[in-house]
Amino acid sequence: MRVDIIGGGPAGLFLSTLLRRDGVEDVRVYERNEPSASAGWAVVFPEGSLDQLAGVDAESFAAIERAGMSWTKVEIRCRDSRYLVEGNRFHGIGRDALLTILRERATVLGVGLHYGHQVTDLADHADADLVVGADGLNSVVRSQQEAAFGPRIEHGSFYYGWFGVEAAAPTFAYIFVDTEWGLFQGYVYPSGQSWSSLIIYASEETWQRSGMAGMDIDESLRFCERVFADHLDGRPILRRGPAWTKFRHLRCDTWHTDDTVLIGDAAHTAHWSIGSGTRLAIEDAIALAAQLRAEPNIPDALAMYEKVRRGRVEQFQDAALLSERYFDTVGRYLDYDPIQFAYQLTARSWRISYGDIARRDPDFIRRFNAWFHSRATGTPTAIAPPPVFAPAVVGGLRLANRVAATVPTEGAGLLIGTPPVPGTPAAAVLAADRLDAELAAARDAGYQLALLDLSAHAVADLLAAPPELPALRAQWPEDQPVGAVIALSSGCDTVAGTEEAVALARAVEAAGAAVVLLRPSADEPPRAGQVLQVADAVRNETGLAVVVEDGMRTLDAADTAIAAGRADLCVLRFDESEAGEA
Ligand SMILES: Cc1cc2nc3c(=O)[nH]c(=O)nc-3n(C[C@H](O)[C@H](O)[C@H](O)COP(=O)(O)OP(=O)(O)OC[C@H]3O[C@@H](n4cnc5c(N)ncnc54)[C@H](O)[C@@H]3O)c2cc1C
Repeated sequence: MRVDIIGGGPAGLFLSTLLRRDGVEDVRVYERNEPSASAGWAVVFPEGSLDQLAGVDAESFAAIERAGMSWTKVEIRCRDSRYLVEGNRFHGIGRDALLTILRERATVLGVGLHYGHQVTDLADHADADLVVGADGLNSVVRSQQEAAFGPRIEHGSFYYGWFGVEAAAPTFAYIFVDTEWGLFQGYVYPSGQSWSSLIIYASEETWQRSGMAGMDIDESLRFCERVFADHLDGRPILRRGPAWTKFRHLRCDTWHTDDTVLIGDAAHTAHWSIGSGTRLAIEDAIALAAQLRAEPNIPDALAMYEKVRRGRVEQFQDAALLSERYFDTVGRYLDYDPIQFAYQLTARSWRISYGDIARRDPDFIRRFNAWFHSRATGTPTAIAPPPVFAPAVVGGLRLANRVAATVPTEGAGLLIGTPPVPGTPAAAVLAADRLDAELAAARDAGYQLALLDLSAHAVADLLAAPPELPALRAQWPEDQPVGAVIALSSGCDTVAGTEEAVALARAVEAAGAAVVLLRPSADEPPRAGQVLQVADAVRNETGLAVVVEDGMRTLDAADTAIAAGRADLCVLRFDESEAGEA
């Protein structure tokens, strides 16, 4: 069998090694650059990223471990504050060093390596039994069969550049510099060599306002050296290749035809802020080699490869999108106390819970709890329980803690305080079409917060002026807050969906609401976690207190949301029917 691999990046080189090891007679790699060409700086592998590689090729894994550098602490520098948080183990390695290791393995195993060979026409590879597009984001293999692969590319909204600095950073540092033109973000991380990588990230507005848009590459780097001067100790920023670009998100309808297959960045991309592109590229190579070994019929093997990989790749793409959005909207959180800003950055992927952070860095969480509690009570303390047990003031109501439960048996009420704390205020959810009757009943029953359910109204009407809310405000006791219930449907977490929810929240705030309860709509509920994502935006972009109902079942889930400032109060789901079940 002859396999032609277009592209000698991590995906192509590692696949070639695996195929040769599996006994494929003729494996050729065509790479447009010379081996000495340098592109990109260091890549980071979070712990576990290379487990699959270690499992199939212990030798390459050992070489990567030796050539790079590992660390466990992450430093967060925002304005004048600096926080070190103990995290996962990470391993950084120069891209060149990684490629050298993979190239040497391929050479030893007898791969035909053709450097300096740019592929322009797939017809030149018609004699191969299988053509593999491992040629990165601008894949010529993909573009020559675009109709078959169905690629969709979307651009991120920020500019980034990947650079180097001649200094060995001790650990990964996230740097946020707030300038008169807007926020500049820099991420500095070790490579295991005498230099470190530096990625610079800035919004379109910052780009325009700072004048970067009109500068040539070298001018823009000298400008960034001044912006990051306090963090680079006067060292110059080094560059290789092109400088500034916007991230391109690539998804394809399919990754294979009967005799051609895409792997790595040619098939999909995931924003670099979760450090996963190289890992995905290598895992693709492993999965493809395994299917070709197990299934002699090439079209069937390619179909199986896509089947086993797609779900996992999409999970990473989704997580990467959340991480990218965090950095795109991080300006919202700059006024947070530095310790909460550090907590939030650590939890940004939404896959890491409060409990995870507490296990990784107990001392950080002890200090965080003490800060959270001291702020909530006004009394300094050194030891404090987790954030859900801190008292709160929500819309003017003093609450003993930050969890709530729905109590369907007592009408549509929300019980605030779990386990119910005697005397804690409760909130009534009132149906807009029975407002007068329900309002009187809620007042008689002693509810102290009235939440108007607006889910029956069209969004356009609500945006214009939320009906019934002014009437509720006028009739409810003046010293007690009113609020609104906004039901969110699937898709609510897109950029447009989130903006709409924030606009809705502003409209109810203008109509007198102090609190908003965000919950999934009954007919088209979003996936778990999406309501919380919208809550984060609403809470941090309006002055409203936000109560979130998003299927949370554990105190850890509530702590995760509250510690990160995504909610003021979380509704915990507790099904009576499940109580006491084994
Ligand atoms: C700023 C930044 C930071 C990143 N940080 C990380 C990180 O920390 N961790 C991580 O895991 N990933 C990271 N990545 C992602 C990672 O670099 C890519 O996902 C990874 O390189 C993909 O590997 P690949 O082999 O699929 O493609 P590539 O690495 O792009 O390799 C493709 C190869 O094909 C060659 N080629 C292209 N066209 C042709 C042609 N027509 N003929 C012949 N050869 C051709 C190219 O020269 C190249 O060598 C980062 C990316 C960026 C942009």
